[in-house]
Amino acid sequence: MSFCSDVKNELINIRPSACCKPSYIYGFMLFGRSFSIKRISLQTGNEKVAKEYADIIKYTYKAQVDITVGGTVRPTYKAEVKSEADRLKILAMIDFGISETVIDRSLFVRECCLPSFIRGAFLACGNINDPEKEYLS
Ligand SMILES: [Zn+2]
Repeated sequence: MSFCSDVKNELINIRPSACCKPSYIYGFMLFGRSFSIKRISLQTGNEKVAKEYADIIKYTYKAQVDITVGGTVRPTYKAEVKSEADRLKILAMIDFGISETVIDRSLFVRECCLPSFIRGAFLACGNINDPEKEYLS
């Protein structure tokens, strides 16, 4: 297990409070592989991250999320909202496309919500190196 995977697995164990849930999942979806009416999906090498993405979308939006496994050298997990009706429902619930900025800040109702958004974004696409590891020349 890599340092980055360890960090992500620890971050998954922090449950978002009720006010933070929309921001957390918004960060997760916005920085996933695709986030549009055509496709809402995440691709990751971390199985727990794929399950967290699928679970929180299922729980929050009552949408079906399928996880498929691919990859030849290392496993790659793809979580995807297959139904267009579900994608429409999700995008409507967060008013996607109405905001004039890339990130719709109207979801951040309290100070705690922005860090939750960043946590979701990091789980979706972030990377971090072990600060204890030194470069060898
Ligand atoms: Zn909050």
